[in-house]
Amino acid sequence: MKILRSRAELREALDAPRRRGRTIGLVPTMGSFHEGHLSLMRRAREDSDIVVVSLFLNPTQFAEGEDLASYPHDEGRDVALAAREGVDLLWIPDAEQMYPEGFATVVEVENDLTGVLEGDPGQRGPAHFRGVTTVVAKLFNSVQPDVAYFGRKDAQQALVIRRMARDLDFPIRIEVLPTVRDEDGLAMSSRNAYLDPEERERAAGISRALRAAERAAGEGETSTAALVKIAINELRSAGVEPEYVEARSAEDLSPIAELNGQPVLMAVAARVGAARLIDNIVIAPPGGVSPDEEATL
Ligand code: AMP
Repeated sequence: MKILRSRAELREALDAPRRRGRTIGLVPTMGSFHEGHLSLMRRAREDSDIVVVSLFLNPTQFAEGEDLASYPHDEGRDVALAAREGVDLLWIPDAEQMYPEGFATVVEVENDLTGVLEGDPGQRGPAHFRGVTTVVAKLFNSVQPDVAYFGRKDAQQALVIRRMARDLDFPIRIEVLPTVRDEDGLAMSSRNAYLDPEERERAAGISRALRAAERAAGEGETSTAALVKIAINELRSAGVEPEYVEARSAEDLSPIAELNGQPVLMAVAARVGAARLIDNIVIAPPGGVSPDEEATL
């Protein structure tokens, strides 16, 4: 595995394989690798001739007061893990290279995809997704992959990136892969490192709450308000007060009052100790494809 720090080195490393018609898969990350990241790398390794992983803790997607300064990082460990997954190129640009003096351009998806859930001004706000789409557009332009891999753990982010790729004609297939969870159901996240054992136990209530809602839907509950209530009750009994629990169309995030045969995204954000955690499930229509096979998310 080659470790590259400059865009020039990256271009040079990709030049020959690209000319020979090799396919390129990109896994964008902010580092602090866990099984979620590794699952994306593994899929890229299966699909593509050349696997590129970018490791960049993108400051522009963090708001003032968020955890940019304390975000976990251990480059040596990440290098070892990526190498073990057979990654070809690990690209680690620094902030000066990504945002040089005078940087003034943003890429923004301007519809409701970025104004709700995480993009709600009361949550991380639309500036968060502006930071994400701007940096991902830059990564796409620098690597020019055939396929880019994202996790459904960040379902809204995946929808926003899909929209951006379509709208701006990036000739890149966007693959969104299932959420990888710990044994207790907790979705893997770099931020789980902030949790002490007691908080970790409480955090497991998040996935239990989503599963409780999913179970109720399976047993015939069609009101999303009722499903949200079930999830909130489960969260509270685990000692977790959610920032939001919402049920929305898994395709465009529009509100959904009754399960109507369309896949519904149930999304949760909750602070547990110092960690702000998000998680979601897609409730598939009865008889429909399971979320893991489902193409939209
Ligand atoms: P991050 O480093 O947190 O920006 O994540 C990099 C990529 O890994 C994003 O596409 C995430 O959606 C994905 N990811 C993070 N956690 C998980 C997880 N538990 N399961 C699957 N993918 C994940």
